[in-house]
Amino acid sequence: MKLFSWYFKSNLLMRILVGLILGAVCGIIFGPKIAWVNPFGEIFIRLLKMIVLPVIVFTLTVGAASVHPSQLGRVGVKALMTYMITTALAVTLGLVFGNLFQPGAGMKIAATATQVATADVAPPSLVDTIINIVPKNPYGAIAEGHILPVIFFFLIFGIGLAHVRNSENEQIRESGETLFRFFNGSAEVIYLVVQWILQYAPIGVFALIAVVFGKQGAEAFGPLGMTTLAVYLAFATHMAGVYGGLLSFFKINPIAFFSKAKEAIVTAFVTRSSGGTLPVSMDIADTEMGISKGVYSFSLPLGATINMDGTAIYQGVCAIFVGFAIGTPLNLSQQLTIIATAVLASIGTAGVPGAGAIMLMMVLDSVGLKVEAGSPVAMAYAMIFGIDALLDMGRTACNVTGDMAVTCIVAKTEQEMDESYWGKYKKTVVAEGGALAKA
Ligand code: ASP
Repeated sequence: MKLFSWYFKSNLLMRILVGLILGAVCGIIFGPKIAWVNPFGEIFIRLLKMIVLPVIVFTLTVGAASVHPSQLGRVGVKALMTYMITTALAVTLGLVFGNLFQPGAGMKIAATATQVATADVAPPSLVDTIINIVPKNPYGAIAEGHILPVIFFFLIFGIGLAHVRNSENEQIRESGETLFRFFNGSAEVIYLVVQWILQYAPIGVFALIAVVFGKQGAEAFGPLGMTTLAVYLAFATHMAGVYGGLLSFFKINPIAFFSKAKEAIVTAFVTRSSGGTLPVSMDIADTEMGISKGVYSFSLPLGATINMDGTAIYQGVCAIFVGFAIGTPLNLSQQLTIIATAVLASIGTAGVPGAGAIMLMMVLDSVGLKVEAGSPVAMAYAMIFGIDALLDMGRTACNVTGDMAVTCIVAKTEQEMDESYWGKYKKTVVAEGGALAKA
């Protein structure tokens, strides 16, 4: 075991990066002969797929059941709607940037395999996608791995559980609490398992990337750089344009907002976890933004669970990338379907590192791009997964910015924001207030 201790002791992100670079180098050196490493990549894809459903089921139920039914009043609906609308805008922006930059164009990963794949996969229409969100049989949806109906069912189940946990009847309340603990404990276990799977990621990424570069040669670097550029430019545009615009519309100074929120944004960037950033964003909402506890204590955790604008942007760009990479760019109906799925995926994405990349599989799935081991889609997916840490930093920063911006807007429109925190003389006013309060 000692032999491998260096492996587990070294930094995971570093290892994934090394796996990516080594994979690319070996692929370029050995060419198509490197294909024998494919099973190592196949195992990795299977591990990721294995964990998608449990992540959704437990995270979503805990998230929905944590919201007190009384909070689902006006403030709740306002926050929810704003979160959904900004996420829909985010994925649209991702698609626009994807179409503009066309990352992956001209790659044609395994063109022959693609022709077979596209011939028998007819992407579902938008209307069908929406109808199919309601499961006829939730257990069937789980067994067949249809993610959207599963999200739909467990969202409702979680809200039901929230009611049961807060029932007037003590016995019912207790049984609800027991069930909640079960889901909460299971969610913790699943997060741990995700961490374990990630320990295997460097090897999986190495194998998958080696196969891609074995077929493509060094040209595969260009599309990855283009994807990163498109994703980051879309993040910047969303943060400045959508949040900046909305904040100004509601008469909140965007410059003041970003200068107050910067600590949370940087924390999100380095931790790659919206959930992990919560203590920082809550502290800022309280001490720097003058938002009432009643609003931020509900809106920020809700945002960290269901609002993932950065993730939605990333999914939009990456879906376009995969389409181009396999030589069948997404058509309009597929892109519209992606908007619907990415919004739902955002609800089902846990605020932990790497969750968005796992959910990307279901977004691709919704337009007929199945990540099956050895398929061109899996290869294109693996390329993006190789640089996931880099993309995850930006998307988490964008996710957290969105949580805070929406919280400010809800607080402002509900008159739950202390304006003195935002004035030019904020520091003096607060200081004087403090001095007066003490006197
Ligand atoms: N890491 C992101 C977050 O915590 C989720 C994702 O992977 O997209 O917000």
